[in-house]
Amino acid sequence: MAARVCLVHYHEVGLKGKNRAHFEHILMDNIKAALAAFSVNAVSRISGYILVTFNEHQADDAARVIRTVPGVARVSLAYHTNRDPQEYCAAAVKALREFGSFDSFKVHAKRSNTDYELTSIDINRQVGEVLCEAFPDKKVQMHDPDAMVHVLVVQGSVYVYARSERGVGGLPVGSAGKVVTLLSSGIDSPVATWMLARRGAVCVPVHFSGRPQTPDTSEYLVQDIIRAYEAAERRQNSGDCQREISVTCPSNLRVIMYRRIMYSVAERIAHIEGAKAIVTGESLGQVASQTLENIMAVNEAVKIPVFRPLIGSDKQEIIARAEEIGTFDISTEAAPDCCTLFMPRRPETHAKLDAVHEAWELFDHEEMIERLLKQTEYIDFESNTYKAPKTLKRKHSELAPREIYQDHE
Ligand code: ATP
Ligand code: MG
Repeated sequence: MAARVCLVHYHEVGLKGKNRAHFEHILMDNIKAALAAFSVNAVSRISGYILVTFNEHQADDAARVIRTVPGVARVSLAYHTNRDPQEYCAAAVKALREFGSFDSFKVHAKRSNTDYELTSIDINRQVGEVLCEAFPDKKVQMHDPDAMVHVLVVQGSVYVYARSERGVGGLPVGSAGKVVTLLSSGIDSPVATWMLARRGAVCVPVHFSGRPQTPDTSEYLVQDIIRAYEAAERRQNSGDCQREISVTCPSNLRVIMYRRIMYSVAERIAHIEGAKAIVTGESLGQVASQTLENIMAVNEAVKIPVFRPLIGSDKQEIIARAEEIGTFDISTEAAPDCCTLFMPRRPETHAKLDAVHEAWELFDHEEMIERLLKQTEYIDFESNTYKAPKTLKRKHSELAPREIYQDHE
């Protein structure tokens, strides 16, 4: 009897020339990790596809999970048979039956081995005849059919499928280096983080909690968000620092000062982690701190590149994506935020650099950055793609939070 398998398609990975095998292996590891709760028999490479086989009937549920793995362009629910025409023709009937509603169909056969006596055209005709008999009221249509039955001959096996759904695309996480992402419990930054992960980056989210000036709700929300994509996380208790800034700096520039501090701490963590960029969820003009002048006034506090994947996105688009990736409901739970607690009545929307530099010197920013770094708490979500920095001799989880940074260098 034909076994149910998942055939994973991955076009972008295929474009990487000599690195292809490397990319494929990362993708296979990530698929395995994503399917930890399933009884997977094997994840292997077959002629331009990744094949996932199961010990139990789990392919349908697993396909839904595989589609969310970055680097996956498409997942097809296929039947695996031998080269016996009776077997693969019967599988084609089953595959088309479960396709859903359709009026027209077409068979598309492909051989990756030419040692099979039938050509693709022969197979098309052979399978087509069987399907015409099984579905007498449906018509064969060469151009733009409703359903396509794929028959793939690979070595001693044949894979047959009609149901195929799009994956998230992009590149496998772990194929593009590491970034530090500034993750609040809001709607935007989880989406920004996901976008970088989809381009293959390993994300180390950093969250600034308002504790002790606010409760720790946002910390739990951020952890829930991270569980949606699993990564290492660091968090700072920045509430007191924000209070200090709000006492010493001109009120209209407070938000810019907080953000310069956040960026600076993130830059230091990036250095320790070996991350090459910072990522934020900023979108041009969305709030007062996201005007061009203010972005510049914050950005110049750091040397590392700062990526803002949502800079040109509309809130509605961001919300749609947040719903799709499952972070929206978490992000809309209320969490007290220090930024709002110490929000000035009239924040500067067009900051002048001279005034920003003057305010920056009004408090000991270096000491504050250092203090926040030392207070960092670290949570390892045990992602298969995250590697703790080499400079840290022991695993983070075995260290007291302070030790992590004191041991460094
Ligand atoms: P979000 O919905 O992501 O919270 P926002 O529209 O509320 O964004 P801001 O509060 O101005 O915008 O924050 C802009 C960006 O700064 C966020 O997208 C995030 O990257 C970062 N950020 C803001 N607050 C925090 C925080 N408490 N911890 C870590 N990063 C933060
Ligand atoms: Mg926010």
